[in-house]
Amino acid sequence: MVTHGPQETQEFGRQVAAHLKGENAAYPRHGAAVYCLTGELGAGKTTFLQGFARGLGITSRLLSPTFIIVRRYGIPGSDGFLYHLDLYRVSGEHDLEGLGIREMIDDHSSVVVIEWAERLGRLLPARRTDIGFEVMGESARKLTVTPHI
Ligand code: ADP
Ligand code: MG
Repeated sequence: MVTHGPQETQEFGRQVAAHLKGENAAYPRHGAAVYCLTGELGAGKTTFLQGFARGLGITSRLLSPTFIIVRRYGIPGSDGFLYHLDLYRVSGEHDLEGLGIREMIDDHSSVVVIEWAERLGRLLPARRTDIGFEVMGESARKLTVTPHI
């Protein structure tokens, strides 16, 4: 689908989170819900996440973790956390060591959203939802959702 402006991408993120909340209520989950976001700088990955976090009920401002790699937010009404990973500055698997990514992915009460997820390498989980972002014009972005179940 194509969004026209950042508000529409945020709104889509909110809807994806609302859908996940419904799913969580209906089925037990074995690991975290993992969303892998790919697309060039400025394609709208962080913008999507701002709406997604709001859809989970998170009210704190979502900062881009570009220098920190991982940020964690408590999910209201749940024991779980939203982990926001941005792997833009990751250049090899050694950069991923010690972040506890495996533990985040194994935690069934949590949600993990990863920008530049293609850099996860062997840590990329089989069960995940991929969301690709493509720049179509100044304010148009093409979003492609591919669930891997
Ligand atoms: P990324 O995290 O992929 O690097 P950001 O979400 O940080 O990208 O930035 C996207 C930029 O593009 C923002 O400045 C935003 O205002 C702008 N933008 C314009 N149109 C859109 C759109 N349809 N969806 C998302 N962002 C858009
Ligand atoms: Mg970003």
